[in-house]
Amino acid sequence: MVDLKNQYVKIKPAIDTAIQECIDSTAFIKGPQVGAFEKALATYLDVQSVISCANGTDALQIAMMALDLKPGDEVIVPAFTYVATAEVIGLLGLTPVMIDVDPQTCNINRALVEEAITSKTKLVVPVHLFGQCADMEGILALTNAHNIAVIEDTAQAIGASYTFTDGTSCKAGTQSHFGTTSFFPSKNLGCFGDGGAIYTNDPVLAQKARMIANHGQPKKYVHEVIGINSRLDTLQAAILLEKLKHLDVYSMARQKAADFYDAAFKPIEAIEIPYRAANSTHVFHQYTIKIPAQSRDDFKNYLSQKGIPSMIYYPIPLNEQKAYQGLGRTVGNLSHTKALCQSVLSLPMHTELSVPQLEYITSTVQSYFS
Ligand SMILES: *Cc1c(COP(=O)(O)O)cnc(C)c1O
Repeated sequence: MVDLKNQYVKIKPAIDTAIQECIDSTAFIKGPQVGAFEKALATYLDVQSVISCANGTDALQIAMMALDLKPGDEVIVPAFTYVATAEVIGLLGLTPVMIDVDPQTCNINRALVEEAITSKTKLVVPVHLFGQCADMEGILALTNAHNIAVIEDTAQAIGASYTFTDGTSCKAGTQSHFGTTSFFPSKNLGCFGDGGAIYTNDPVLAQKARMIANHGQPKKYVHEVIGINSRLDTLQAAILLEKLKHLDVYSMARQKAADFYDAAFKPIEAIEIPYRAANSTHVFHQYTIKIPAQSRDDFKNYLSQKGIPSMIYYPIPLNEQKAYQGLGRTVGNLSHTKALCQSVLSLPMHTELSVPQLEYITSTVQSYFS
């Protein structure tokens, strides 16, 4: 599904030097590379503050803690997403309200957000799934009108751009209270272990998030709130500083591979290729097709026999997971989420896909459906 080895080999001297510098300095925690990476990412995203942390799940937790939500407050999330989004809501004693997604984009649906809002709603967490932004303009219009906070989970969409109808563009995760992301190795900007970050343009929220991530201390041995311990290692920051320089090239490589897949699969009636929204670029964290539910398992097995990996992201709606049953509520019948769980299949997608590899994958797919 990914090829991290060849990606590393291409920038090996720079990465190895950066790592060796960390070891030589022994500043393993809060070394200068951590602040330097936060600044570099803030510049890249054109956002005021970036706060690094230990992983993308912590990033969501820190952002939610910084918003001072109270147990029982309702948080609207898509039912079709990675578990982390809802997990943190549950851990903080908040009430998840799991709603259906748009069947084309697989992203949270504005009309359903509107339907889900009650007087208890305090937060909406759109997830920019697979690398494409949710309908932020529509969502922000709603949340602004109701005075509801927004955290964008951009773990799969770092580098994607969103364009509003007035023509202004911004990077994913920079238009709401917080954006959060993950630097898990297979994410679009991945380190060599775990890592995450929070972004915001609000200086008060930035300071709060930084304090929460650091044991709730505004200064050493002064604890204003109960916080957590969530840090990005200096080694990971040094690697990310180097890899950030290549993020746009990485995104383009993914888009090129996606274009190749699109062209090959468009004529195949049984395959629905990824929908491309007009107001967002797509950075293809995943290349996810939809195929008829009754043939998916057979098709997946066929690919596997031909040496082609594929994955189902995600097989079970959040609200049907044992841990989340009876927690919070759902809105509507979640029919699109259910259907997507039965029909999605993600194909190999990474920065190192060669034309011969793409040709092999696409011709194998074509031969199955011919
Ligand atoms: C990967 C991911 C996360 C969690 O990131 P970790 O660094 O693994 O904690 C959260 N949300 C989404 C949508 C993700 O894809």
